[in-house]
Amino acid sequence: MLTTPKLISVVVPVYCEEAVIVETYQQLTQMLESLETYQHELIVVNDGSTDRSLAILKELAQQDTRLKIVSFSRNFGHQTAVTAGLQKSKGDAVVIIDADLQDPPSLIPQMIELWEQGNAVVYAQRVERRGETWFKKTSAEWFYQVLNRVSDVQIPFNTGDFRLMDRRVVQELNRLPEHNRFVRGLVSWTGFRQVPISYIREQRRAGETKYPLAKMIRFALDGIISFSNKPLRLAINLGFCSIIVAFLVLLYGLVQHAAGQTIRGWTSLMVTILFLGGIQLFTIGIIGEYLSRMHDDIKGRPLYIIEEEVNFEPPKPLQPTE
Ligand code: UDP
Ligand code: MG
Repeated sequence: MLTTPKLISVVVPVYCEEAVIVETYQQLTQMLESLETYQHELIVVNDGSTDRSLAILKELAQQDTRLKIVSFSRNFGHQTAVTAGLQKSKGDAVVIIDADLQDPPSLIPQMIELWEQGNAVVYAQRVERRGETWFKKTSAEWFYQVLNRVSDVQIPFNTGDFRLMDRRVVQELNRLPEHNRFVRGLVSWTGFRQVPISYIREQRRAGETKYPLAKMIRFALDGIISFSNKPLRLAINLGFCSIIVAFLVLLYGLVQHAAGQTIRGWTSLMVTILFLGGIQLFTIGIIGEYLSRMHDDIKGRPLYIIEEEVNFEPPKPLQPTE
Protein backbone atom coordinates (compact mmCIF):
# COMPACT_ATOMS: atom_id res chain seq x y z
CA MET A 1 0.00 0.00 0.00
CA LEU A 2 1.27 3.45 -0.86
CA THR A 3 1.32 5.93 2.01
CA THR A 4 1.97 9.64 1.60
CA PRO A 5 5.27 10.64 3.17
CA LYS A 6 5.14 12.61 6.40
CA LEU A 7 5.52 16.37 6.19
CA ILE A 8 8.19 18.20 8.19
CA SER A 9 7.65 21.95 8.65
CA VAL A 10 10.53 24.21 9.58
CA VAL A 11 9.69 27.61 11.06
CA VAL A 12 12.27 30.40 10.92
CA PRO A 13 11.67 33.83 12.51
CA VAL A 14 13.59 36.53 10.68
CA TYR A 15 14.29 40.08 11.75
CA CYS A 16 16.88 41.96 9.68
CA GLU A 17 18.99 38.95 8.76
CA GLU A 18 20.08 39.97 5.22
CA ALA A 19 23.67 39.04 6.06
CA VAL A 20 22.92 35.41 6.72
CA ILE A 21 19.51 34.50 5.33
CA VAL A 22 20.67 33.03 2.00
CA GLU A 23 23.14 30.72 3.68
CA THR A 24 20.55 29.65 6.22
CA TYR A 25 18.10 28.90 3.43
CA GLN A 26 20.70 26.89 1.53
CA GLN A 27 21.78 24.86 4.53
CA LEU A 28 18.22 24.14 5.57
CA THR A 29 17.00 23.08 2.13
CA GLN A 30 20.07 20.95 1.56
CA MET A 31 19.47 19.17 4.83
CA LEU A 32 15.72 18.81 4.23
CA GLU A 33 16.24 17.46 0.73
CA SER A 34 18.55 14.79 2.09
CA LEU A 35 15.62 13.45 4.11
CA GLU A 36 14.35 11.34 1.27
CA THR A 37 11.44 9.73 3.02
CA TYR A 38 9.89 13.00 4.11
CA GLN A 39 8.27 15.99 2.43
CA HIS A 40 9.07 19.40 3.77
CA GLU A 41 7.96 23.02 3.89
CA LEU A 42 10.06 25.95 5.06
CA ILE A 43 8.06 28.75 6.65
CA VAL A 44 9.94 31.98 7.10
CA VAL A 45 8.24 34.66 9.17
CA ASN A 46 9.53 38.11 8.34
CA ASP A 47 9.07 40.06 11.56
CA GLY A 48 9.02 43.56 10.05
CA SER A 49 12.63 43.59 8.85
CA THR A 50 13.85 47.00 7.78
CA ASP A 51 16.68 45.64 5.63
CA ARG A 52 16.59 43.59 2.41
CA SER A 53 15.62 40.31 4.11
CA LEU A 54 12.13 40.23 2.60
CA ALA A 55 13.30 41.07 -0.92
CA ILE A 56 15.95 38.35 -0.76
CA LEU A 57 13.45 35.81 0.54
CA LYS A 58 10.95 36.64 -2.19
CA GLU A 59 13.59 36.06 -4.84
CA LEU A 60 14.35 32.66 -3.34
CA ALA A 61 10.65 31.82 -3.10
CA GLN A 62 10.17 32.36 -6.83
CA GLN A 63 12.42 29.38 -7.51
CA ASP A 64 11.20 27.22 -4.66
CA THR A 65 7.52 26.85 -3.83
CA ARG A 66 8.35 24.93 -0.68
CA LEU A 67 9.70 28.17 0.74
CA LYS A 68 6.71 29.98 2.20
CA ILE A 69 6.85 33.52 3.50
CA VAL A 70 4.65 35.20 6.06
CA SER A 71 5.46 38.87 6.32
CA PHE A 72 4.28 40.99 9.26
CA SER A 73 3.18 44.60 8.83
CA ARG A 74 5.75 45.63 11.47
CA ASN A 75 8.05 44.14 14.11
CA PHE A 76 5.86 42.15 16.50
CA GLY A 77 8.69 40.32 18.27
CA HIS A 78 10.49 37.01 18.06
CA GLN A 79 8.00 34.94 20.07
CA THR A 80 5.08 36.27 18.05
CA ALA A 81 6.88 35.44 14.81
CA VAL A 82 7.42 31.88 16.03
CA THR A 83 3.74 31.69 17.00
CA ALA A 84 2.63 32.80 13.52
CA GLY A 85 4.90 30.19 11.94
CA LEU A 86 3.40 27.46 14.10
CA GLN A 87 -0.10 28.55 13.20
CA LYS A 88 0.70 28.49 9.49
CA SER A 89 2.50 25.16 9.56
CA LYS A 90 0.89 21.95 8.36
CA GLY A 91 3.62 19.42 9.16
CA ASP A 92 3.28 16.18 11.09
CA ALA A 93 6.29 17.52 12.94
CA VAL A 94 7.34 21.16 13.21
CA VAL A 95 10.87 22.41 13.87
CA ILE A 96 11.60 25.93 15.17
CA ILE A 97 15.06 27.22 14.31
CA ASP A 98 16.79 30.62 14.47
CA ALA A 99 17.81 32.34 11.25
CA ASP A 100 21.41 33.04 12.25
CA LEU A 101 22.75 29.45 12.09
CA GLN A 102 23.45 29.42 15.82
CA ASP A 103 21.21 26.38 15.82
CA PRO A 104 22.79 23.77 13.51
CA PRO A 105 20.36 22.37 10.90
CA SER A 106 22.41 19.16 10.95
CA LEU A 107 20.73 18.27 14.24
CA ILE A 108 17.30 17.99 12.64
CA PRO A 109 17.65 14.39 11.35
CA GLN A 110 18.44 13.21 14.90
CA MET A 111 15.42 15.12 16.17
CA ILE A 112 13.24 13.39 13.61
CA GLU A 113 14.61 10.02 14.65
CA LEU A 114 13.73 10.66 18.29
CA TRP A 115 10.31 11.87 17.23
CA GLU A 116 9.74 8.66 15.24
CA GLN A 117 10.55 6.75 18.42
CA GLY A 118 7.45 8.26 20.00
CA ASN A 119 8.67 11.47 21.64
CA ALA A 120 6.34 14.44 21.19
CA VAL A 121 8.97 17.13 21.73
CA VAL A 122 12.70 16.99 21.09
CA TYR A 123 14.36 20.13 22.46
CA ALA A 124 17.94 21.08 21.78
CA GLN A 125 19.98 21.73 24.90
CA ARG A 126 23.22 23.69 24.72
CA VAL A 127 26.18 22.04 26.41
CA GLU A 128 28.35 24.94 25.40
CA ARG A 129 27.70 28.45 24.08
CA ARG A 130 30.31 30.01 21.87
CA GLY A 131 30.78 33.66 21.07
CA GLU A 132 28.35 34.92 23.67
CA THR A 133 29.29 37.39 26.37
CA TRP A 134 29.90 36.43 29.97
CA PHE A 135 26.97 38.67 30.87
CA LYS A 136 24.54 36.88 28.56
CA LYS A 137 25.55 33.43 29.78
CA THR A 138 25.45 34.34 33.48
CA SER A 139 22.18 36.24 33.28
CA ALA A 140 20.60 33.35 31.35
CA GLU A 141 21.76 30.90 34.03
CA TRP A 142 20.30 33.05 36.83
CA PHE A 143 17.10 33.59 34.92
CA TYR A 144 16.41 29.86 34.53
CA GLN A 145 17.25 29.26 38.20
CA VAL A 146 14.73 31.89 39.31
CA LEU A 147 12.16 30.79 36.75
CA ASN A 148 12.28 27.16 37.84
CA ARG A 149 12.12 28.10 41.50
CA VAL A 150 8.99 30.19 41.11
CA SER A 151 7.21 28.31 38.33
CA ASP A 152 5.03 25.22 38.66
CA VAL A 153 6.05 24.08 35.19
CA GLN A 154 9.62 22.81 34.89
CA ILE A 155 11.37 24.60 32.04
CA PRO A 156 14.67 22.97 31.01
CA PHE A 157 17.93 24.90 31.42
CA ASN A 158 20.10 25.98 28.50
CA THR A 159 17.45 25.67 25.85
CA GLY A 160 16.19 28.10 23.27
CA ASP A 161 13.29 27.65 20.93
CA PHE A 162 15.26 25.24 18.72
CA ARG A 163 13.11 22.11 18.95
CA LEU A 164 10.94 19.66 17.09
CA MET A 165 7.31 19.24 18.06
CA ASP A 166 4.68 16.74 17.10
CA ARG A 167 1.52 18.05 15.44
CA ARG A 168 -0.47 17.29 18.64
CA VAL A 169 1.71 19.72 20.61
CA VAL A 170 1.51 22.41 17.93
CA GLN A 171 -2.27 22.02 17.86
CA GLU A 172 -2.45 22.62 21.60
CA LEU A 173 -0.13 25.65 21.38
CA ASN A 174 -2.27 27.10 18.62
CA ARG A 175 -5.29 26.98 20.91
CA LEU A 176 -3.68 29.30 23.47
CA PRO A 177 -4.94 32.85 23.07
CA GLU A 178 -2.44 34.59 25.35
CA HIS A 179 -0.32 37.58 24.40
CA ASN A 180 3.29 38.15 25.59
CA ARG A 181 4.06 34.52 24.87
CA PHE A 182 7.02 32.61 26.25
CA VAL A 183 6.98 29.79 23.73
CA ARG A 184 9.51 27.41 25.31
CA GLY A 185 7.58 27.55 28.60
CA LEU A 186 4.27 26.92 26.86
CA VAL A 187 5.75 23.87 25.15
CA SER A 188 6.82 22.44 28.54
CA TRP A 189 3.39 23.28 29.87
CA THR A 190 1.61 21.11 27.24
CA GLY A 191 3.12 17.99 28.78
CA PHE A 192 3.53 14.93 26.52
CA ARG A 193 6.84 13.12 26.26
CA GLN A 194 9.69 15.63 25.91
CA VAL A 195 13.35 14.69 25.50
CA PRO A 196 16.56 16.72 25.20
CA ILE A 197 19.28 16.43 22.59
CA SER A 198 22.65 18.06 23.26
CA TYR A 199 24.55 20.43 21.00
CA ILE A 200 27.20 23.12 21.00
CA ARG A 201 25.78 26.53 20.19
CA GLU A 202 28.03 28.23 17.72
CA GLN A 203 28.56 31.91 17.16
CA ARG A 204 26.14 33.88 15.06
CA ARG A 205 27.24 33.34 11.42
CA ALA A 206 26.81 36.99 10.47
CA GLY A 207 25.01 40.12 11.59
CA GLU A 208 24.34 41.14 15.17
CA THR A 209 22.06 39.93 17.92
CA LYS A 210 18.51 41.25 17.68
CA TYR A 211 18.12 40.96 21.44
CA PRO A 212 19.40 44.11 23.11
CA LEU A 213 19.22 44.27 26.92
CA ALA A 214 15.77 45.89 27.07
CA LYS A 215 14.24 43.14 24.89
CA MET A 216 15.97 40.49 26.98
CA ILE A 217 14.54 41.89 30.22
CA ARG A 218 11.08 42.00 28.73
CA PHE A 219 11.44 38.43 27.52
CA ALA A 220 12.57 37.31 30.99
CA LEU A 221 9.64 39.09 32.64
CA ASP A 222 7.21 37.44 30.19
CA GLY A 223 8.65 34.08 31.19
CA ILE A 224 8.34 34.62 34.92
CA ILE A 225 5.02 36.42 34.89
CA SER A 226 3.23 33.99 32.61
CA PHE A 227 4.41 31.01 34.64
CA SER A 228 4.19 32.20 38.22
CA ASN A 229 2.02 34.21 40.58
CA LYS A 230 4.65 34.13 43.31
CA PRO A 231 5.94 37.68 42.70
CA LEU A 232 2.44 38.93 43.53
CA ARG A 233 2.62 37.18 46.87
CA LEU A 234 5.92 38.90 47.58
CA ALA A 235 3.97 42.04 48.53
CA ILE A 236 2.15 40.24 51.34
CA ASN A 237 5.35 38.68 52.67
CA LEU A 238 7.31 41.92 52.58
CA GLY A 239 4.43 43.77 54.25
CA PHE A 240 4.24 41.12 56.94
CA CYS A 241 7.98 41.32 57.62
CA SER A 242 7.99 45.08 57.87
CA ILE A 243 5.03 45.06 60.29
CA ILE A 244 6.95 42.68 62.56
CA VAL A 245 10.07 44.83 62.38
CA ALA A 246 7.97 47.93 63.14
CA PHE A 247 6.55 46.21 66.24
CA LEU A 248 9.99 45.26 67.47
CA VAL A 249 11.21 48.81 66.99
CA LEU A 250 8.16 50.14 68.83
CA LEU A 251 8.81 47.76 71.69
CA TYR A 252 12.42 48.81 71.87
CA GLY A 253 11.41 52.50 71.89
CA LEU A 254 8.91 51.95 74.70
CA VAL A 255 11.43 50.09 76.81
CA GLN A 256 13.99 52.81 76.27
CA HIS A 257 11.39 55.46 77.14
CA ALA A 258 10.48 53.68 80.34
CA ALA A 259 14.15 53.65 81.22
CA GLY A 260 14.14 57.40 80.77
CA GLN A 261 16.14 57.51 77.55
CA THR A 262 13.96 58.94 74.81
CA ILE A 263 15.61 58.22 71.46
CA ARG A 264 16.42 61.09 69.16
CA GLY A 265 16.77 59.87 65.65
CA TRP A 266 16.29 61.60 62.37
CA THR A 267 18.39 59.09 60.46
CA SER A 268 16.47 56.03 61.60
CA LEU A 269 13.22 57.74 60.70
CA MET A 270 14.38 58.65 57.20
CA VAL A 271 15.80 55.21 56.55
CA THR A 272 12.56 53.58 57.63
CA ILE A 273 10.40 55.86 55.51
CA LEU A 274 12.57 55.44 52.44
CA PHE A 275 12.83 51.69 52.89
CA LEU A 276 9.09 51.21 53.24
CA GLY A 277 8.45 53.63 50.38
CA GLY A 278 10.82 51.58 48.25
CA ILE A 279 9.09 48.32 49.08
CA GLN A 280 5.71 49.83 48.31
CA LEU A 281 6.77 51.16 44.93
CA PHE A 282 8.50 47.89 44.09
CA THR A 283 5.42 45.81 44.85
CA ILE A 284 3.09 48.22 43.05
CA GLY A 285 5.48 47.85 40.10
CA ILE A 286 5.11 44.07 40.20
CA ILE A 287 1.34 44.37 40.24
CA GLY A 288 1.63 46.78 37.32
CA GLU A 289 3.57 44.26 35.26
CA TYR A 290 0.83 41.67 35.72
CA LEU A 291 -1.86 44.23 35.10
CA SER A 292 -0.32 45.41 31.84
CA ARG A 293 -0.20 41.84 30.56
CA MET A 294 -3.80 41.24 31.61
CA HIS A 295 -4.66 44.45 29.82
CA ASP A 296 -3.05 43.12 26.65
CA ASP A 297 -5.12 39.95 26.90
CA ILE A 298 -8.36 41.75 27.70
CA LYS A 299 -8.03 44.07 24.73
CA GLY A 300 -8.09 40.93 22.65
CA ARG A 301 -6.19 42.39 19.72
CA PRO A 302 -4.77 39.87 17.27
CA LEU A 303 -1.22 38.79 18.10
CA TYR A 304 0.09 40.01 14.76
CA ILE A 305 -0.93 41.48 11.42
CA ILE A 306 0.17 39.83 8.20
CA GLU A 307 0.90 42.16 5.34
CA GLU A 308 1.85 39.60 2.75
CA GLU A 309 2.05 35.87 2.19
CA VAL A 310 4.03 34.05 -0.47
CA ASN A 311 3.57 30.45 -1.71
CA PHE A 312 0.66 29.63 0.55
CA GLU A 313 -2.37 28.08 -1.09
CA PRO A 314 -5.01 30.67 -1.94
CA PRO A 315 -8.01 30.53 0.42
CA LYS A 316 -10.76 28.22 -0.81
CA PRO A 317 -13.73 30.07 -2.34
CA LEU A 318 -16.82 30.06 -0.16
CA GLN A 319 -19.22 27.23 -0.94
CA PRO A 320 -22.52 28.59 -2.12
CA THR A 321 -25.21 27.74 0.43
CA GLU A 322 -28.42 26.16 -0.71
N1 UDP B 1 14.03 37.77 15.80
C1 UDP B 1 12.75 38.13 15.39
N2 UDP B 1 12.19 39.29 15.86
C2 UDP B 1 12.82 40.10 16.76
C3 UDP B 1 14.12 39.70 17.21
C4 UDP B 1 14.69 38.53 16.71
O1 UDP B 1 12.13 37.44 14.58
O2 UDP B 1 12.27 41.12 17.14
C5 UDP B 1 14.63 36.53 15.28
C6 UDP B 1 16.04 36.68 14.73
O3 UDP B 1 16.02 37.04 13.34
C7 UDP B 1 16.60 35.29 14.94
C8 UDP B 1 15.93 34.83 16.22
O4 UDP B 1 14.77 35.65 16.36
O5 UDP B 1 16.25 34.39 13.91
C9 UDP B 1 16.82 34.95 17.44
O6 UDP B 1 17.36 36.26 17.52
P1 UDP B 1 18.89 36.54 17.84
O7 UDP B 1 19.75 35.55 17.13
O8 UDP B 1 19.17 37.97 17.55
O9 UDP B 1 18.94 36.28 19.41
P2 UDP B 1 20.17 35.68 20.24
O10 UDP B 1 20.57 34.41 19.56
O11 UDP B 1 21.24 36.71 20.19
O12 UDP B 1 19.60 35.48 21.60
MG1 MG C 1 21.08 34.21 17.64
